[in-house]
Amino acid sequence: MPHRATRPRHYAGPVVIDLHTHSTASDGTQPPGVVVAEAAAAGLDVVALTDHDTTLGWAQATDAARADGIVLVPGIEVSCSRRHQSIHLLAYLPDPEHPALAAELARARESRDTRLERMVERMAADGIPLTLAAVWAQVDEGATAGRPHIADALVAAGVVEHRDDAFARWLGNDSPYYVGHYAPDPVHAVRVVRAAGGVPVVAHPRAGNRGRGVADGLLEEMAEAGLAGVEVHHRDHDADAVRHLRDLAAVLGLLVTGSSDYHGDGKHNRLGENTTSPEVLAAIEAQATGWPVVRP
Ligand code: AMP
Ligand code: ZN
Ligand code: FE
Ligand code: FE
Repeated sequence: MPHRATRPRHYAGPVVIDLHTHSTASDGTQPPGVVVAEAAAAGLDVVALTDHDTTLGWAQATDAARADGIVLVPGIEVSCSRRHQSIHLLAYLPDPEHPALAAELARARESRDTRLERMVERMAADGIPLTLAAVWAQVDEGATAGRPHIADALVAAGVVEHRDDAFARWLGNDSPYYVGHYAPDPVHAVRVVRAAGGVPVVAHPRAGNRGRGVADGLLEEMAEAGLAGVEVHHRDHDADAVRHLRDLAAVLGLLVTGSSDYHGDGKHNRLGENTTSPEVLAAIEAQATGWPVVRP
């Protein structure tokens, strides 16, 4: 029988909704079912699984949500880029088999594989103790490969203690070892997600540690193309960024979300550290036609 470990079903307190998490289907450190179980154990009522460029984790997350009595919003964090700037687009409840969406995701994943190998080759050539085999050993079968897996290989070899150290030393966007990968233009991605029945929400657009952030003009372009919302509450946003994005969302008529961007042990972000209101989740669900919310 489904049960809640921490809160009974008749609990009358606020509904806790976290709409951005990662599993081993991309660069999180826990399998999808464990992310969902942890979310239930942490007292969340709703969790979205949003692995980078893949829906690989949805099936396992769905089984876990039913078993653990938590609501699951299946999603994707779609990598986008424009003029070498990386932009992340959360896509909630899209049809994963929509041809245009599936093709964009497959193309990005394939390009990520090639780019990972080029980065590792450059690093190894410079004397950093890494092999392709050691890095691929960190990537689950079929999962989306990323820089965190290079970091994990360095942690496994005892070269650094945490992913953070590897990013600070070798893996940042300004690193000489950095290699980009194919990613769709964000305006195109918004249209593709909508075409797939999904609800597009731009992720952490003002993350101060990721360069200059997404310009207001681009957010406006994305809004005109069908963007539904902005992830305003995120640990990488300072108070100024939160104020600015909240005001901009009001002007552009966009929903405001907040999420943890949980990566298990791979990042310091904790489940439920930022949350989304039930009204906003209801609006997202009402706009979605690609895939249903999973209710236990
Ligand atoms: P990639 O998708 O391969 O370009 O790598 C970017 C990913 O690395 C993002 O999902 C981030 O969550 C993760 N990342 C970025 N900086 C750090 C860091 N300092 N420590 C751990 N993970 C990071
Ligand atoms: Zn990530
Ligand atoms: Fe992101
Ligand atoms: Fe993320």
